[in-house]
Amino acid sequence: MQAPVVYMNTSTERQTGREAQISNITAAKAVADIIRTCLGPKAMLKMLLDPMGGIVLTNDGHAILREIDVSHPAAKSMIELSRTQDEEVGDGTTTVIILAGEILAQTFPYIEKKIHPVVIIQALKQALTDALEIIHEVSVPVDIHNDSAMIKLIKASIGTKYISKWSQKMCELSLKAVKTVYIEQGDYKEIDTKRYVRIEKIPGGEVEDSEVLDGILLNKDVTHPKMRRFIENPRIVLLDCPLEYKKGESQTNIEITKEEEWNRILQIEEEQIKILCEQLLEFKPDLVITEKGVSDLAQHYLLKGGVSALRRVKKSDNNRIARATGATIVNRIEDLKESDIGTRCGEFRVDLIGDEYFTFLTKCEDPQACTILLRGASKDILNEIERNLHDAMAVTRNVMFEPSLSPGGGATEMAVSVKLAEKAKSIEGVAQWPYQAVADAFEVIPRTLIQNCGGHPIRILSQLRAKHSSGNHTFGIDGEAGKVVDMNEYGIWEPEVIKHQSIKTAIESACLLLRVDDIVSGVRQQE
Ligand code: ADP
Ligand code: MG
Repeated sequence: MQAPVVYMNTSTERQTGREAQISNITAAKAVADIIRTCLGPKAMLKMLLDPMGGIVLTNDGHAILREIDVSHPAAKSMIELSRTQDEEVGDGTTTVIILAGEILAQTFPYIEKKIHPVVIIQALKQALTDALEIIHEVSVPVDIHNDSAMIKLIKASIGTKYISKWSQKMCELSLKAVKTVYIEQGDYKEIDTKRYVRIEKIPGGEVEDSEVLDGILLNKDVTHPKMRRFIENPRIVLLDCPLEYKKGESQTNIEITKEEEWNRILQIEEEQIKILCEQLLEFKPDLVITEKGVSDLAQHYLLKGGVSALRRVKKSDNNRIARATGATIVNRIEDLKESDIGTRCGEFRVDLIGDEYFTFLTKCEDPQACTILLRGASKDILNEIERNLHDAMAVTRNVMFEPSLSPGGGATEMAVSVKLAEKAKSIEGVAQWPYQAVADAFEVIPRTLIQNCGGHPIRILSQLRAKHSSGNHTFGIDGEAGKVVDMNEYGIWEPEVIKHQSIKTAIESACLLLRVDDIVSGVRQQE
């Protein structure tokens, strides 16, 4: 079986004017329909077969769209959307697609009624500006130093995912990891989870055993079995040069006529390595980690000097070790200085987990970089946990940067919908209709939440609308029971940035697709 394919109206090579817009809208709606059932806490999972034959089990909008194969250009652009959303803020990928699809669907009748797309686009842009203001009005600030409030918040964001039964654990992990790499100096704030948090998945064990290390984990063993595998407070040297005989520049040819000359060449190689190692040993390191190789002879000298060595460590890992241990990566051994040596690590230890060796550099004081060690029953589960942990960290990061929250469960969307509908009345001319269409489109989020848990959309939606019309903008949908609840009690809140971003992306992409009036294929059709 192949991954699902969305084919749309590819019978003609050129589509113009309204035909092009209609075909774009249809394609965008088709994509939105695929992932409609993946929104909210009662979301269904999708099982996808990737081209390599592996399976992906997920309900994350972005992860699904990444795997499916579409041919319509508009559908492709929708998928691009969810990727942008994922990269920018890490959550809300399903929301953005459903919203964009619905906005296009709602404006469809006006395209058919021959209102000029430019008028529609202008109305959409106006609606966007107003919607962003409304979101800001209904949002409240949060205290980022209150751990339990933060955890509740992260939980609301990943509670919709398959891993929800371990969500408490995941939230703690993500909060701890983000706090580890959080740097604040005056006005400058940095949280670079991509560079400095690494997730290491080791199948086996219980999910509860997962932890954020106060340091770094490497999938490596010492180069020589006799080297020490446990050192307290090690002095660490990080290199990105090899501990090997230095070869000649580019291809060197040496012609030798006598046997003594050959011996001399070997001797020079050995001497060079000896000098390298002696220079290194002067600094009395306990642990030498290099991104390149370590030759047998060098291992011998290091072993004699009581030094453990790790080789072929990835650049990115080396950077993390540097941050966690306070060492500086050195390019040439001649340049090594006392200040380059890392001393902030409390314990170096090599452990056998399963049938692989792992190096732990832990008990670092103020590490500023870390590894999250994930345990779990199978690789599929670990992969899904990893994806969700990424989302959780993105949410944490966003809130640390902009500590403001909007009510979830479709409450914010409903508030936007109701308030836009009020404003629509004051808009002059035909632009009023597409503006109203955006207002209607926002209802799709609470409606889908109701539908996904088997509720009665029409009745419950009108209850919700009534609440909002009387000014209670924290009311939304209880996604488990499909009832109208107050988010102040139910407790689902989401970072304001995510709401901003998803609405911005959805409306802007809808505008983009409406602006297209010609689809010309550069690909020749096969007979
Ligand atoms: P996305 O990929 O867009 O983040 P999700 O499947 O995570 O999609 O769903 C997010 C939506 O579900 C948000 O609008 C959020 O407010 C809502 N939501 C999350 N948990 C609940 C809940 N327990 N009850 C109702 N709505 C919820
Ligand atoms: Mg989510």
